[in-house]
Amino acid sequence: MTLPVESRDFDPHTYRPDFPILSKLIHGDIPLAYLDNAASTQRPRRVIQAMVEAYEEHYANVHRGIHMLAEESTALFELAREKVRALINAPTVEQVIFTQGATAAINLVARSWGDAHVREGDEILVTEMEHHANLVPWHQLADRTGATIRFIPLTDDGLLRLETLATLLSQRTRLVAVTAISNVLGTVNPLEEIISLAHAAGAVVLVDGAQSVPHQPTDVAALDADFLVFSGHKMMGPSGVGVLYGKQDLLESMPPFLGGGSMIRRVWIDSFTPANLPYKFEAGTPPIVPAIGLGAAIDYLNEVGFESIHRHERRLTERAHAKLEAIDGVRILGPRPDQKAGIISFSMKRIHAHDVAQRLDRLGIAVRPGHHCAMPLHKRFDLAATARASFYFYNTLDEVDRLGDAVAECKQFFAGRRRTRAEQAPSAESVKSESAS
Ligand code: PLP
Repeated sequence: MTLPVESRDFDPHTYRPDFPILSKLIHGDIPLAYLDNAASTQRPRRVIQAMVEAYEEHYANVHRGIHMLAEESTALFELAREKVRALINAPTVEQVIFTQGATAAINLVARSWGDAHVREGDEILVTEMEHHANLVPWHQLADRTGATIRFIPLTDDGLLRLETLATLLSQRTRLVAVTAISNVLGTVNPLEEIISLAHAAGAVVLVDGAQSVPHQPTDVAALDADFLVFSGHKMMGPSGVGVLYGKQDLLESMPPFLGGGSMIRRVWIDSFTPANLPYKFEAGTPPIVPAIGLGAAIDYLNEVGFESIHRHERRLTERAHAKLEAIDGVRILGPRPDQKAGIISFSMKRIHAHDVAQRLDRLGIAVRPGHHCAMPLHKRFDLAATARASFYFYNTLDEVDRLGDAVAECKQFFAGRRRTRAEQAPSAESVKSESAS
C-alpha cells in the first residue's frame, strides 16, 4: 500500500509511527484526529524513552552529590539546557532558566524584574490578543505598583493595529509584553518591528513564545528580545518544564524570585547572597527529568526541521480554511492563512462551541472549545467561546478533510434541533471546560 504523500518535501506519515497515541481508535472504532496541539502536543516514543532511561539508569538530584548518579543526572540536565540554548540561539547557557512552564516564567519576570523596575505612573503595554498568562501577571504587577496597563487593539481580521503603537509608546512605557503567535487567532505578530519601536522608546520587551517556539525557527539574538518564554509540553516535551530566556544584564540586575536551596551562594542565619545565573532563579529541586525530556524533544524537532514543520502546517491551515469557509454559517477568527500559524478558531451560527466540540469528538476529532484563556480577545469579537483546531507537523491533510466533513455534519446534526447550548444559559459543564486554556 502506498501512503498518501502530503507534499514533495514532507510527509507526516514518516513520523506518525513514533507517536503511539496517534493511531488510537476512540469511541470504539473511530481513528483519532488529534487537533488540539495549541493546548498540548503529543510526544514520540523517543522522548518518553529518554525520560524512562533517565529514571531507570541515571536518576539522582542534580548539582548536589558527588556520587556517580548525581554526576550523570547533572550532566544530562545541563546538556538539556545547552540544547535549549542552541534552539533559540541564546548567547550563553546562563541565560536559559528552567521554570515550570511559560506561565511560571512570565510570573518570574513580573515579580522579579517588575517589582524592581515598575513604579506608580509607569505603563505596561500588552496586546488585545494575549493569553491570560501574559496578562494577569501584569495586572497583578499594576495592582502592586500603581502602574497602568495599556493595550494594542486588533483589526477585525485579528491583526495588531500597529499604527497605534507609536502613540501608545512613551517615556512611561516600561515593558511591552507580546505574544509571538496568538493561541486563538493564529496571528503571527511582527516582532522585529514591535521590538525596535519599543526599544527606541526605552521599553523592555517580553515575547511569549509558547505558540511559536514549537513551530518555527527562533533566534533571540537576531530578534533582540529582552525576555522570551515558552513551555515544554507544547513542543512534545513533558508538562512541568518551561524556559525563561533573558538578556544577561537584565537577568543580572534582577533579584531572585523564589528563595530556597540551589539559588544561593552563601547563607547566614540573618542573610544570604544569591548564586550566579541561571541558578539564582532555580530555587529548590528543578524539573530534572522533564528538562531531559524537553532536550530529547528538541533533538527530534531538529531532525524533522523547523522549516519543514512551518511549511507543512501552512499547507494544513490553507486546506482547513478552504474547507471551513465553504460551510455556510462558519465564522473563522483571525487573518488569512498566509498571515497565521496552524491555529483556527471558529464559531458556528446558532451552535455553541461546546456542542461543536462534543459532536466533533463523537466523530473522532479532538478540538478545544472555550475562551482558550483569552477572554478579552473573545470579548473583542463579541463571542463567549470558539472551537479551536490546532495542528502540528504529524497532522495530515486527510485529518483536515475529516475536520471539514465533521463540521459540515455538525451543522446538519444540529439543524433539526430547536435549542442548542448557544440559545441556553451556559451549563455547568460548559463553564467548567471554559476555565481551561
Ligand atoms: N502563552 C500562550 C500563547 C499559550 O498558548 C499558553 C498556553 O496555552 C501559555 C502562554 C501558558 O502556557 P503554560 O500553561 O504551559 O504555562
